[in-house]
Amino acid sequence: MPDYDAIIIGTGQSGPALARRLVAAGRRVAIIERKLFGGTCVNTGCTPTKTLVASAYIAHAARRAADYGVTIEGAVSVDMKAVKARKDAVVAVFRDGVERSLKSLQGCTVYEGHGRFIAEKKVAVNGSELAADQIFINVGARAAIPPISSLDQVPYLTNSSMMDIDFLPSHLIILGGSYVGLEFGQVYRRFGSEVTVIEFGPRLISREDQDVSRAVAGFLKEEGIDVRLDSKMIGVEKQGNSIVAKVESSGKVSQIAGTHLLVATGRRPNTDDLGLDKAGIATDARGYIHVDDQLRTNISGIWAMGDCNGRGAFTHTSWNDFEIVAANLLDNDSRRVSDRIMAYALYTDPPLGRAGMTEAEVRKTGKSALISTLAMKDVMRAFERGETRGFMKILVDRDSKQILGASFLGLEGDEVIHCVLDIMYAKAPYTVMQRAMHIHPTVSEFIPTMMDNLKPLQ
Ligand SMILES: Cc1cc2nc3c(=O)[nH]c(=O)nc-3n(C[C@H](O)[C@H](O)[C@H](O)COP(=O)(O)OP(=O)(O)OC[C@H]3O[C@@H](n4cnc5c(N)ncnc54)[C@H](O)[C@@H]3O)c2cc1C
Repeated sequence: MPDYDAIIIGTGQSGPALARRLVAAGRRVAIIERKLFGGTCVNTGCTPTKTLVASAYIAHAARRAADYGVTIEGAVSVDMKAVKARKDAVVAVFRDGVERSLKSLQGCTVYEGHGRFIAEKKVAVNGSELAADQIFINVGARAAIPPISSLDQVPYLTNSSMMDIDFLPSHLIILGGSYVGLEFGQVYRRFGSEVTVIEFGPRLISREDQDVSRAVAGFLKEEGIDVRLDSKMIGVEKQGNSIVAKVESSGKVSQIAGTHLLVATGRRPNTDDLGLDKAGIATDARGYIHVDDQLRTNISGIWAMGDCNGRGAFTHTSWNDFEIVAANLLDNDSRRVSDRIMAYALYTDPPLGRAGMTEAEVRKTGKSALISTLAMKDVMRAFERGETRGFMKILVDRDSKQILGASFLGLEGDEVIHCVLDIMYAKAPYTVMQRAMHIHPTVSEFIPTMMDNLKPLQ
């Protein structure tokens, strides 16, 4: 039985980085990957979707060329084969980079196959049984498929199979009006598809504040996306070349006929076929592995990092998990999950950058808070760029003067949010930003001005 100091299952965002740190510390490491090196982010998540977002933005900008005094002869058309080829080329750079770096890493043995626990400190892969005192689980998550009548009888798409598309779906129905569904929805609308989003709840991206949901729904509708809220898909069937969704809304049942169906109704962890019971590793009812503040499972010497531990669902949270594990294990630095401030982005155009609490969450705390909002149409840079959709909102604690949270829906919102995030990490009062001189003309230059306009949160 090959014996290692450490086994890592999965090559997502934390596993490969941890492998590098462990071998640098002189440990013998085995890393197991069953499919694509680099995992979700690189192959079917962040990288390919943001590459598609870039192509869709260019198509959109080209259609608006005349607004900027630029003439394009003829209609703007999108070559989907070329869009996919570009996406594949970008993905290949990242995936091959992860694979090459692991396979050439001295002290690290790569196993390609499905890893499964067969005992507390033993993992089987491709007929080999590996043993190690320390095991790190980085198996990620996949699309969750809801139990809808006859869904398994139609050729539905997920974020993974969307990556193989090199043609334009004539009418894409998207089940789920949250982050993944909305990014794909806007992208395909801009490529030229008819798009219908079916959302069970009363608003899109229900984790965000109402004003954010409303604004996002507004600009998606403006671009021609059919947004169906309060709508429950209760069945689906294939009729000739069409996929017909049966939708119940306000007690009435109607049908939506499209050519393709994307299911984007959340994620589930890849822990159901991992032999966790053989190792005695505890999970919650949805299969997320229980971890403590240092990402240790209930079994000593076994850690869980990334989406599979349910403590984050982003590339940066998985990477941060790696940093926390490495710091505690190798650097005598007691970093904790609870040290991090939640932050993420939604990559529609304009994007949403988020940090800390939403306004609704701040209200729930009962804290005495101040709020400032600014419409993007009042931001000079956005006006100059002709991209004035959205608004920015910041909330601060009236007593401590610390920033509680921010939602920046607008031009460069995913970047600008970091000037707030870093102040939050510094635990500095908002007055530090208020007095900072920012560069003109940028979106960020208005953050100090927003601090001048803070009002009590009613
Ligand atoms: C469409 C989409 C867009 C996204 N966009 C963003 C974004 O813009 N920004 C962002 O921060 N996040 C985004 N995310 C989320 C992000 O992709 C994930 O949070 C991130 O990839 C999680 O990484 P991970 O380390 O948990 O594991 P993953 O990247 O999921 O990797 C896990 C790896 O483990 C392997 N594996 C699983 N089980 C086994 C086993 N038993 N044996 C061997 N190998 C196994 C898998 O094949 C996979 O390669 C997006 C997700 C999706 C679906």
